[in-house]
Amino acid sequence: MLRVLIAEDNPANRELLREILEAHGCDVEEVEDGESALRKIRQRPADIVLMDVQMPQLDGVTTLQRLRSDPTLAAIPVIALTAYAMRGDRERFLAAGFDEYMSKPIEAVLLWTMLERLLRSRKNKNDRAATSE
Ligand code: MN
Repeated sequence: MLRVLIAEDNPANRELLREILEAHGCDVEEVEDGESALRKIRQRPADIVLMDVQMPQLDGVTTLQRLRSDPTLAAIPVIALTAYAMRGDRERFLAAGFDEYMSKPIEAVLLWTMLERLLRSRKNKNDRAATSE
């Protein structure tokens, strides 16, 4: 079962994301800020993280940087979620180290397509690494 961590301070968005993910059989956990995301993921690593960029305490970009600087967590795919889509956002967030980027409002089909693509490319990379050993 795919384990997904949602880090998002807006309860309505968390609920929507949970519904989409659970409809696809994911095991979902939710947190409301970056500090909690780091704590949760250290307790129980996720297969993928959906991270709101604008959160109280610790924002999404800072949280991502902390995650990437921890060797045990660095490889977990993280998708950035933003409320206000701006030109160049995708490039900016990929440059910041996110694996993908999605602007809100979240569309169920788009989100799931993105998750599948990300996990597939991740798996191919791992398979290649395994055969070259
Ligand atoms: Mn937010």
